[in-house]
Amino acid sequence: MTFEKMLQDLTLHALDPQAARQALMEPEKRRKIQYYANIQDIAKHPLSDAQLSELTAIVGILQILENSSVGSPITDHAYDNMQEMLVSMGIPRLTGAVEINDDIKVAHTYTTLRGTLTKVYYLSKEDQRVNKNRKYLDEWVEKMEALYKAKTGLTIHLDEQEVLVQPKFDGVSCILEVKDGVATWITRGDTSNNMASDVTHIMRPFTDVFKESRNCGIKFEVMMTEENKDRINTMLLDTHYKNSRQIVTATINASEPDYKVDYLYPVPLRIIHPGEPVERIHPMLMEQFPTLRCKLKDRELIRKFGNENRYVKHNNMRFRTDGAVITILDPDIQRILGRENDINNFEVAYKFTEESGYSKVKGVEFYVSEFGRVTPVLVINDIILKGNTINHITLSNKERFDELDLHYGDEVKVLYDIIPYVTLDEKCRRVPYGRKIEFVHHCPSCGTELDLSQVEVQCPNPKCISRVLGRVLNYCDTLRIQNIGYSTLDTLWVHGCLPKGIRSLYKLRKKKDLIQTLDGFGALKTKKIIAEIEAKRRLKDYDFFGALGIEGLSVKTFQTIFQEVPYTEVLELAKSRNPERLVQRLVSIRGIGEGKARLLANYLKEPENKKELQKLLEELTIVSTYGAKTTRERVVLTGCRPTDEDVRLLEEQGYEASDSWSNKAKFLIIPHEGYESSKVGKAQSLGIPILTLQDMRKRGR
Ligand SMILES: [Zn+2]
Repeated sequence: MTFEKMLQDLTLHALDPQAARQALMEPEKRRKIQYYANIQDIAKHPLSDAQLSELTAIVGILQILENSSVGSPITDHAYDNMQEMLVSMGIPRLTGAVEINDDIKVAHTYTTLRGTLTKVYYLSKEDQRVNKNRKYLDEWVEKMEALYKAKTGLTIHLDEQEVLVQPKFDGVSCILEVKDGVATWITRGDTSNNMASDVTHIMRPFTDVFKESRNCGIKFEVMMTEENKDRINTMLLDTHYKNSRQIVTATINASEPDYKVDYLYPVPLRIIHPGEPVERIHPMLMEQFPTLRCKLKDRELIRKFGNENRYVKHNNMRFRTDGAVITILDPDIQRILGRENDINNFEVAYKFTEESGYSKVKGVEFYVSEFGRVTPVLVINDIILKGNTINHITLSNKERFDELDLHYGDEVKVLYDIIPYVTLDEKCRRVPYGRKIEFVHHCPSCGTELDLSQVEVQCPNPKCISRVLGRVLNYCDTLRIQNIGYSTLDTLWVHGCLPKGIRSLYKLRKKKDLIQTLDGFGALKTKKIIAEIEAKRRLKDYDFFGALGIEGLSVKTFQTIFQEVPYTEVLELAKSRNPERLVQRLVSIRGIGEGKARLLANYLKEPENKKELQKLLEELTIVSTYGAKTTRERVVLTGCRPTDEDVRLLEEQGYEASDSWSNKAKFLIIPHEGYESSKVGKAQSLGIPILTLQDMRKRGR
């Protein structure tokens, strides 16, 4: 199949993204993509029309995959390079990302919020340009000065202009539109046709924070912190998300919200009200995140800002960025430069670049990370990139390890920007008949045999030191106990201070004298650590349970649970002979599906966990947050979403609409007669009445 045909089929839903991703991994297709991605100077190697059409199709396919839960199989750098080549060849930057989902399509009211940005990769002439397709900031400045002159007849020196520099968050664009009190969340969508997906069903929990009383449009970058990305990746054994953006994409494009929604974080970027010609920077962005005001000519300040904010710190968590956005602030200049092809001419993105080189493989080492995950780390001969000596490169997981199929002495290509990345291209010399590097069969920490069929190989031994320490670290993180990192815990463990995991934290005060003699501790640090821990003896029920690191169950989930069911009752039900009773009790709570309920029930069933919990409860004072909140009876919807009018209608009748299944639902609403889904099956088996949306509306009147 040609790339063009693939793109066409994807757009027409005749090919699903997973199959397309697989097709891209075929050797012949992969070689072609490698070829395009590695062209260093498009001006010297102009493409034929056939090649140009092929490249356009490849970029189109990759864009669709990136916007699906499947993810793109190539690096961001390779993608950027191909995209910039198309721009250099006079093809407008592709913004018409087609979304492969069946969501309801809506049009944007504030179309200027949807655009993309011109990208530059080098801030000053001193930056050595490794890839000729990538532009200098000076080139953009010259172009905009010429545009200004063409429009006004006047000369301007943009370098003297004041600019605002902000991190370029690497997430998913989403827009909140408020009209007559109704809030709708929409994706960027297909810009050329102004068709976007309504994702209100996913983003609804965030509405109250940002909704304004008057009509407006707010542009967000929906993010997930690196810490939560790691957390989710450790919870899931069959899926591994390459980066936080991919998880956000998968969550937003899902037909129903799941626990991952708890981990989303919409960062407000711009705001516009009806009648305003240009959007303004959202005040919350300025308040909560680092920004820089300087002149455009202060290139070193901008560079420093970019380097310091590759990960933006916020509440002790980190957001990933891929550059900085530079906006000229003068409103007159903004108006004159204007907007073309969905791009604002008064702002530009400075994107981080990587350097690359070749080196030889010495071997692979295996590390056991915080949650017992076994990570292969490639060891290569020293190579210097961007001034740093690199000799160890993580391969993330077993899938990546297998893909590379390395032998001792093979040559690999190393890309380095923030973290080194290893890849293979046609220039890499491979050792003929070399000795193949094998994945370890036993946990390097505890020696337990590993299941190598997983993408994320994880030590199955619950008592494995790496897993024990991972749980302790997670506990400290969640309860915001400062001054404790993995290396601190590791030292404490080695010296026998954490034999029982989390509960040993509360025994540390008795070992103060020993701890302050340990390397890197000292009296002051020891005192601080112990004080921090002792301050956490009185905990709210949801904080405590949320900190235990139970797979898939966040603090927010426990907040929902304990508001409706006292934690003591949850523990009682877990002890009872029929654990199904606990599951049934939990699913009756709005927002708790069967999946979450089972995760908790299974956790509480394990004798080890029971014991740990019992011992911890003896140490701590737990504050119950059970509240007398009255709840409406629930009506569940499948395959359709209620309009605000529908919600009002249901509320008048004492019902509450929900996307999550409940065995106690009063009835199930389907979009039309004959609609099939797992919820329809459940409703039938439990004898819950099924109504179409139309029936429900008629009933209400
Ligand atoms: Zn182990």
